[in-house]
Order: sequence, then C-alpha cells, then structure tokens
Amino acid sequence: MAIVILKPNTEFSVGKIVCVGRNYAEHISEMSAEKPSDPVLFLKPSTAILNEGQQIKIPSFSHEVHHEIELALLISREAKAIKASDWTNYVTGAGIALDLTLRDHQSAAKKKGLPWSVSKGFDGACPIGSFVPLKDLNNIDELKIELYVNNKLRQAGNTNQMIFSPGKLVEYISSIFTLEPGDIVLTGTPSGVGPIIKGDEIRGTIENLGEIVFKVS
Ligand code: MG
Repeated sequence: MAIVILKPNTEFSVGKIVCVGRNYAEHISEMSAEKPSDPVLFLKPSTAILNEGQQIKIPSFSHEVHHEIELALLISREAKAIKASDWTNYVTGAGIALDLTLRDHQSAAKKKGLPWSVSKGFDGACPIGSFVPLKDLNNIDELKIELYVNNKLRQAGNTNQMIFSPGKLVEYISSIFTLEPGDIVLTGTPSGVGPIIKGDEIRGTIENLGEIVFKVS
C-alpha cells in the first residue's frame, strides 16, 4: 500500500495514544519534577483526537489549559517487546501533536496522588496533524520544535534534547503495552508550556514535518 500523507481518523483509525511525560530536561525543571529513570507513561483515549480544521474547546470544568507541542509517531505493525534498534520497522510516520493538559486538574491530581486521565484525556485533548513517512526523514533525532501562540514564540526545542530517544521509547512502551497499527506515541514536550485562552491561535512546527494550526474557540 503506497502511503504519502496519513490523516488520523481519515486515512487510518486511531487506536490508543501512548504519551510520554518528562522527556526533556528543561521541561522537567519548569515543572519542578524529577528526572525519571524510566519513561513516564500515560494514555489518552482515541476520542482525544482533534483534526486540523476543528477548533480547540476549553472544557467547562477547567480554568487552565496548557499547550505542549510534541513529536508524534504512528505505529504501523504490532509491536510487542521490540528492541530499540528495530523501532523503525514498527513506526510508519512522524507528525506534530499537542498534548493539551488541564494544568489545574493535573496539579490537584498530583497533590492527591491521583491519575491524570481527566487532565490529559478529555475530548479534544490531542490536536494533531497528518503524518509524513518516516522513511523520508533521516534526522528524526535532530529536529527543531517550535510552538507559537498568536505568532509569539512560546516553546523552542530540538528532538536531540530528548532524555529517551524514539527507539528507546518504543522499546520501553512495547514491553508494557502491545502497540497496534493506528496507535500513536507522543514523545514529550520541550520547555515553555503555558496557558491558552479563547481566541488564541496555536501554531506548532517541527522541522521537515510542516506545521499545524488550531484556533481556540
Ligand atoms: Mg506532554
């Protein structure tokens, strides 16, 4: 099957979305968190997907939604306990996603030792663009990442700052969850996260992957 650009829930059905927290040192610092010894994982349901053309809606039960731009990986084959060196055999594409986070809910959950499902998994919590073929990228370990809100730069990083590389992440994740075609992995966010409000325009870019633009309604 020849694939050029893959749009979530149009060209393929999204399965589970496995997300990685605390994968960039400067973001760990800004969150006053500790550097993890293994990747920090959490899940978003497939209903979190928001495609380009749709608008971000602030949930009525939150007063603090933060942007987190992340490199997204699209799984193409069942992956169970694979080796990091084999990861490109299981990932077909790379894309740009936002890990929208209800920071007020997440902070309250952290204090009480409760899970992050509400703060990370609400409807529309994963605005995402189309995926481009991984085989066309020869430098996934060194791509500039930037996020702008109303044309002001908020986040700037590089995939070379990841604590756990894409290969290491797929190895670790697949040792816990069997990854299936249509699953998506979000690889963590660089520093500079912050709030978005009604009327904002969010633009995320990753070198060689183009850009995504979402309005907040
Ligand atoms: Mg994140």
